[in-house]
Amino acid sequence: MATAHPSTAQPTPFTRTAAPDAAMTTTAAILEARDLTKRYRLGATTVDALRGVSLTVGEGEFVALMGPSGSGKSTLLNLIAGLERPDAGRIVVDGVDMRTLDDDAATVFRRERVGFVFQSFHVLPYLSVADNVALPLALAGRRDDARTRAMLDAVGLGDRGASLPRELSGGELQRVAIARALVHAPRLLLADEPTGNLDPESAAQVIALLRDCVKANGATALLVTHSHAAASAADRMMALTARGVQAAPAVRRA
Ligand code: ADP
Repeated sequence: MATAHPSTAQPTPFTRTAAPDAAMTTTAAILEARDLTKRYRLGATTVDALRGVSLTVGEGEFVALMGPSGSGKSTLLNLIAGLERPDAGRIVVDGVDMRTLDDDAATVFRRERVGFVFQSFHVLPYLSVADNVALPLALAGRRDDARTRAMLDAVGLGDRGASLPRELSGGELQRVAIARALVHAPRLLLADEPTGNLDPESAAQVIALLRDCVKANGATALLVTHSHAAASAADRMMALTARGVQAAPAVRRA
């Protein structure tokens, strides 16, 4: 198992960006990305994964980001999460300029302020459902069984805490992942194709649940998806293209 960072009862006090430049300042933005570029080099070949991408997500918003395969969606999520660093540009998450964090601080920041939901669930097969959900709290040194139970109830799995992941369907596993992503009350939830492995009926249920849980927990969400049906659950839909991020046509919630 990965090494837990030192136990802390209180969230780590990250320094809020003291004086963001005017272009970065938005009322209560939880995520501000400005002019991001990322180029990968593979031998003599270079790939421009992102060329000058900017995106702002306000507090409490649920924003969907669509775009064709290869348009840089996963790269953008990795940069926002501090898993990779941009070649140029700036990212501020919950008032913290990601450039000010070294790798260890970025890890702690992610554990405390960010939740993740992935296409392939990423549940640990040898842990019970309840222990999977409790993992972010355990890693932060603040186990809270009542909170874990409340999140299991919120995703409709209150009676499945003792089950092992192999006993659950794909839709149920993604509900476990949603509970895990929000159990530590992150400010920002990042979801990467969360319905990509689900049948249409389960996908619709999971995306509605994700939205409800994000809103109920006062979180902000950025959802990356290919699926128009999934994106239609969002407050706002954006498209990532070679020209950057642009507003996508308005969507009506079903
Ligand atoms: P999307 O998530 O929209 O499918 P990605 O962010 O995965 O797009 O990829 C954007 C581009 O960057 C693609 O051309 C991809 O091949 C390239 N790319 C992504 N990650 C790497 C990497 N680690 N090394 C080399 N190229 C990469």
